[in-house]
Amino acid sequence: MSKVKRVYKFGNKEAEGKADMKNLLGGKGANLAEMNLIGVPVPPGFTITTDACIEYNRLGKDKSVELLQKEVENGIGHLEKIMGMKFGDKENPLLVSVRSGARVSMPGMMDTVLNLGLNDETVKGIAKKTENERFAWDSYRRFVQMYGDVVMGLKPASKEDADPFEEIIDELKESKGIELDTELTTDDLKELVERFKAAVKNITGQGFPADPWEQLWGAIFVVFDSWMNPRAKYYRALNQIPEEWGTAVNVQAMVYGNMGNTSATGVAFTRDAATGENIFNGEYLINAQGEDVVAGVRTPQQITKEGSLRWAELAGISENERASKYPSLEEAMPGVYKELFDTQLKLESHYKDMQDLEFTIQEGKLWLLQTRNGKRTAASMVKIAMDLLREGKIDEKTAILRQEPNKLDELLHPVFDLNAIKEAVTVAKGLPASPGAATGQIVFFADEAEKYPVSILVRNETSPEDLEGMHIARGILTARGGMTSHAAVVARGMGKCCVSGAGSCIINYKQRTLTVDSKAFKEGDWISLNGSTGEVYEGKIATKDPELSGDFGKIMDLADKYRKINVRTNADSPNDSKVARKFGAEGIGLCRTEHMFFEGDRIKAMREMILSSDETGRRKALEKLLPYQREDFEGIFEAMKDLPVTIRLLDPPLHEFVPHEEENQEEMAKEMGISAKEVKQKVNDLHEFNPMLGHRGCRLGNTYPEITEMQARAIIEAAINLKKKNIITIPEIMIPLTGTREELKMQEEIVRATAEKVFEEKGEKIEYLVGTMIEIPRAALVADKMAEVAEFFSFGTNDLTQMALGYSRDDVGKFLPIYLKKGILKNDPFQVLDQEGVGQLVEMGVERGRKTRKDLKIGICGEHGGEPTSVEFCHRVGMNYVSCSPFRVPIARLAAAQAALR
Ligand code: PEP
Ligand code: MG
Repeated sequence: MSKVKRVYKFGNKEAEGKADMKNLLGGKGANLAEMNLIGVPVPPGFTITTDACIEYNRLGKDKSVELLQKEVENGIGHLEKIMGMKFGDKENPLLVSVRSGARVSMPGMMDTVLNLGLNDETVKGIAKKTENERFAWDSYRRFVQMYGDVVMGLKPASKEDADPFEEIIDELKESKGIELDTELTTDDLKELVERFKAAVKNITGQGFPADPWEQLWGAIFVVFDSWMNPRAKYYRALNQIPEEWGTAVNVQAMVYGNMGNTSATGVAFTRDAATGENIFNGEYLINAQGEDVVAGVRTPQQITKEGSLRWAELAGISENERASKYPSLEEAMPGVYKELFDTQLKLESHYKDMQDLEFTIQEGKLWLLQTRNGKRTAASMVKIAMDLLREGKIDEKTAILRQEPNKLDELLHPVFDLNAIKEAVTVAKGLPASPGAATGQIVFFADEAEKYPVSILVRNETSPEDLEGMHIARGILTARGGMTSHAAVVARGMGKCCVSGAGSCIINYKQRTLTVDSKAFKEGDWISLNGSTGEVYEGKIATKDPELSGDFGKIMDLADKYRKINVRTNADSPNDSKVARKFGAEGIGLCRTEHMFFEGDRIKAMREMILSSDETGRRKALEKLLPYQREDFEGIFEAMKDLPVTIRLLDPPLHEFVPHEEENQEEMAKEMGISAKEVKQKVNDLHEFNPMLGHRGCRLGNTYPEITEMQARAIIEAAINLKKKNIITIPEIMIPLTGTREELKMQEEIVRATAEKVFEEKGEKIEYLVGTMIEIPRAALVADKMAEVAEFFSFGTNDLTQMALGYSRDDVGKFLPIYLKKGILKNDPFQVLDQEGVGQLVEMGVERGRKTRKDLKIGICGEHGGEPTSVEFCHRVGMNYVSCSPFRVPIARLAAAQAALR
């Protein structure tokens, strides 16, 4: 006999489980147990553990029944005793509900069966006992329908297909000329049960099970199975919930909200889930069952009178009509309301967080079916935590740990108007590359972004050339590319809404059309993007600016009080730097200089440099670029006054800058006094099969040292110029893509020699550091050698991930979604740092680097620097800072505080 306990009972203010057993009993099971322990009225029941679910997945049904049988039978016995009823009894039958309940709530994702235990015999017992035949048969038809849908598989796979049971109901209603379910007579309901059972037999070839025990086992295993249904899997993937958790099953005595006019059912929140306001609120329906409240067939009524008055005002309903047709529970059942009100206070002060309750009133008696920490918006998350802190119910650390860092995003970007989005038609779905909402007119070319007052740039993919247009456009949609594609990274940096890799979008640049399925959009047509979900909508949808409440700032201050690592930003313009500073950035961790070469005339000088056939030609072109660069750096240093700024020398492959179109090639030829053929030849020469592993990073500076010289000069001169204005900066000059000590050393020597030269020329000195990106796996392995030269390391985890996994960051969209769907990968490694693999390289790099140089300053500047679990990792391995795009700075600050508190 195994000693493993698989079933935990509760009821009558006693329970075998308790609140902190969520892992084993699921959130719902643990809370049902806990509610009993604090004296809240809960229908008795038992919970089958999540371990039993995992076991079932491994061993299958027969073995599971064998392992569970005794305890489940004992559990039912426990219910029978408390309720004074008997499962399957003809006279006094016990009916139960069977519900899922995972460790964290996954609303609506898994299956539920209610009214279980009914058959042709027990229904008569219920009818007699309640003296309400209609109620008994209504429960029976609901049960056959639910069991048929959920357990016997009649539920249609897609939303468009009709539920066979609903069709039968509609047929009957039509033939009888009635509209509402409540108009169905007892005989109609009997007829429905017969027709339902016939439909089950017809479709499945099996009869509807009459034996309550057979019903129960069927329901238990179907709830276990629903852990693996596509909806649940999708929800888990979205919320990073591990498959290994499994779900618990809760079997509970049924209580009825549909036993007449002294019965009701409802849901309530102890505070407002949308705004966080401290008011009890919720909805209920008299003479109804749980699903009626959410199904939207009848208009639910408000629980409190205050809520009811507010609701009526919004709905334009007169006070007369409200009070007579839609009274609040407070008015309709004052006694029960008082008990419910006291219970919610008790529950909130017990759990010390906003609760989401489900309750049923059966013939005037209140039962709580569920309590859980309520889901909430970001605004409400922040306000509730700060209110609870002020009320002395939680401490500062708890307030911080209650925040979901990623949710803060909602507070930082424009959002769609809630009413407008309800009507919107989705046309495609891509990756939620950069959050926010955008609506605008389609343009297909970056240099045409200004053609319309608000535009959406639609491209197969973007490149550095498109930068200016990306800035101007309200949002960006790409058909290709992943979460670290150029479009995604740049858009996040700008805080601009972007949907990337929307594979169903077919773009024809020549005809200027976007086709999705059979729908075609032309240039100038309106579309809307939700960068937080990846949805693409047709037409114009109203958006609104986010409202930052005062509590948001306060929670950030708290985060700063507890976090140990600094948070910097990735920014390459004075404007982005200012935005990031406003969000609390403590310096720049990565300034990508390549973007500076695309504006206005600079690209011409840049192209001239690349196309020159010798050093003299290159130097001439670089002379033209120098003042631009210096000016850029002065702007950034000034915006980041008193804070460190890391500037990375030129990184991307040169071919990204050269003119590919004939027209531009001719222009360059004229400019340089050479033939168009020569330009074309040079462009062809620069072609690489694998540019990301080609002539880029420090390889550029080592083959053309004059580029490094120019950039180093621009940086040092800018810093000296500012010093004259009493603005002190300590630039951190960063060499990209190094893999050997020698290639780093050579670049360092050029930088230092240039700096000395400038000091001499200007008769003025400044302090600066020279360091390197660690983004090639080899660099992490030989970090001890790299640290002999580098004064700081910045982990470029975008490239490090690309090279460690061997996944091209620009082409990952082709297979990554499939890998995620199949569970080969749990997360996109370009978003969530692969701690198991890439993490080892990072840890090794930190450890080996500091072995050589104890005070080596270390940070991260890949996209992971703003992702909460990765920030926690960076904290753990002892980095000095993380750096992320401006709009993720608050998220990183919070994640860093949580890391320090955990
Ligand atoms: C990186 O590789 O992580 C990085 C920050 O550099 P980039 O994304 O510009 O290649
Ligand atoms: Mg890189």
